[in-house]
Amino acid sequence: MAPDPAPHEDCLFCRIVSGDVPADVVHETPTTVAFRDIEPQAPTHVLVIPRHHQPDAAALAAAEPTVLVDLVAAAASVAAAEGLGDGYRLVLNTGPAAHQTVFHAHLHVLGGRSMGWPPG
Ligand code: 5GP
Ligand code: ZN
Repeated sequence: MAPDPAPHEDCLFCRIVSGDVPADVVHETPTTVAFRDIEPQAPTHVLVIPRHHQPDAAALAAAEPTVLVDLVAAAASVAAAEGLGDGYRLVLNTGPAAHQTVFHAHLHVLGGRSMGWPPG
């Protein structure tokens, strides 16, 4: 088994996982942490992240595929707790052209309003 990836000292989301940076945590599992986005784009906007540092979803899929499943399962738990029975959107911005700004993989959970399509 590959060794656990080390936290990156200069990574904001690693620092949220370690508790060095405060966040409004709404859900935790052994492999994931979910917290409210600081700049919400919908009535519910939660980020679900792996505890281990991986730069994006593709890297996470390659290194720890089961944790990608854990992110989606955690998102479903968050959506249920937030009363998003009518539906919600999951977003994995990957790369700068897709507006990824934090390079620690994170799954956006958005809901509580109708979501336009196609996305902007
Ligand atoms: P991205 O644009 O990389 O897909 O998403 C990064 C998200 O992280 C953005 O929606 C942004 O608002 C959120 N974010 C950035 N800094 C912080 C922070 O310090 N705390 C929290 N809770 N969210 C943050
Ligand atoms: Zn990180």
